[in-house]
Amino acid sequence: MGTYTITVLPGDGIGPEVTEQAVRVLQRVASRYGHTFNTTQALVGVSAIEAEGDAILFGAVGGSPRYEGPDAKIQPERALFRLRKDLELFANLRPVRPLKALLNASTIKPEVLQGTDLVVVRELTGGIYFGKPSEIRETAHGYDAIDTLIYTEAEIERILRTAFELSLGRRKKVTSVDKANVLSSSRLWRRTADRVAADFPDVAFDHLLVDACAMHLIRRPASFDVIVTENMFGDILTDEASMLAGSMGMLPSASLGTRRTNHGVFGLYEPIHGSAPDIAGQDKANPIAAILTVAMMLRLSLGLKREADAVERAVEVVIDAGYRTEDLREAGKEVVGTREMGRLIVEAI
Ligand code: NAD
Repeated sequence: MGTYTITVLPGDGIGPEVTEQAVRVLQRVASRYGHTFNTTQALVGVSAIEAEGDAILFGAVGGSPRYEGPDAKIQPERALFRLRKDLELFANLRPVRPLKALLNASTIKPEVLQGTDLVVVRELTGGIYFGKPSEIRETAHGYDAIDTLIYTEAEIERILRTAFELSLGRRKKVTSVDKANVLSSSRLWRRTADRVAADFPDVAFDHLLVDACAMHLIRRPASFDVIVTENMFGDILTDEASMLAGSMGMLPSASLGTRRTNHGVFGLYEPIHGSAPDIAGQDKANPIAAILTVAMMLRLSLGLKREADAVERAVEVVIDAGYRTEDLREAGKEVVGTREMGRLIVEAI
C-alpha cells in the first residue's frame, strides 16, 4: 500500500473524455489494491511544468481551427513540446503489441501481425521540432521557410543507451533508424549508434533507413524488438505502427528523463493520438490508449507491476469478450461508447 501524487492534464478535444476513463481505472486500482493516488487536475502550462510528484497523466492538445493554419502564431501543441523539453523527458517509449482478438481489426493481414511485440524509442526533445531558426520569412522574391534539424552527440548517445538498456529486458535486438544516405545529423546518429552498440555485445544490432523501415514495419513487424529513432521519424513511424494494433486509440506512450521519484522514474504518460476534433464530444473515442498509459505509469513511475498487469489484463478481457469502440468496429462485435468501454474495463479489474 502506498501514496502517490499524479498531475492530470486532460487537455483538448477527446483528451478530457479518454482521460476521465483513465482516472476511473486508476481509482479502481486504488480501491482494489489499497493505494492512495492523490490526483491534481491542471491546465497545461506553467502549473504542469512546476508539478511535483511521481507522474503526469496527459490527454491530448490541439484541434481548434483558430490556432491552426499557416498564420497561427499560438499553437497549443507548443505547450506539450515545452513540457517535454522543460522536464527533459527525452525518451518516448511507444510499445506496439497487437491483441490477439484484434488481429482482424487491423488493415494488415493477421498472419503478418502474428507475434508482433515491438517498442519504438523516439527521441523527444531534440531534432527538427526544436531546432532554431524555424520560421517563415519574407524575401525580395516572395516567402521562404526554414526549419533546423540539429542533434548533439550527447543527445544521440543518451537515447541510444536508453534503447539498448530497454532491449536487455526484452529480446535483445535493437534497430536504429536514420536517413544517413542524405542527412548529416543521421550520419552523426549512425556513428554514435555504432559506438554505443559496442558496449552491448549481447544485443543484436542493425541500422535501417527510415523509408525502408516504413516498409518493413508493415511487411515484417514481428521481426522488430526495439526501434530507436529521432524525433520526427519516430512521430511518423509510430502513427503507422499504430495500425498494426488496429487503431490509434490503442497505443499508449511514456516519456521519461533522468528525474527519479521515490518509486521509480518520473514520467509523462499520454496516448499517442491527438485531440481528434472529428469525434470530440460524441462519446466515440477509444479510451484504451489512455487506460494503457495508466498501466505504463503504474509500472514505470510508481513501481506497481502487479497493478499494471491487472489493468492490461482487464483491457484484454473486455476485448476478448467482444466489446469494441467505433474505431475497432467489426462484424459480430458489440460497439460501445467511451464511457461504457471505461466502465467495462473498471469492472474487469
Ligand atoms: P488525431 O490523432 O487527433 O486523429 C487522427 C484520426 O484518428 C482521426 O480520424 C481521429 O478521429 C482518430 N482517432 C484518434 N484518436 C482516437 C481514439 N482515441 N479513438 C478513436 N479514434 C481516434 O490526429 P489529427 O486529426 O491529425 O490531429 C488533431 C489535433 O490533435 C491537431 O491539432 C494535432 O496537432 C493534435 N495532436 C496532438 C497530439 C498530442 O496532444 N499529443 C498528438 C497528435 C496530434
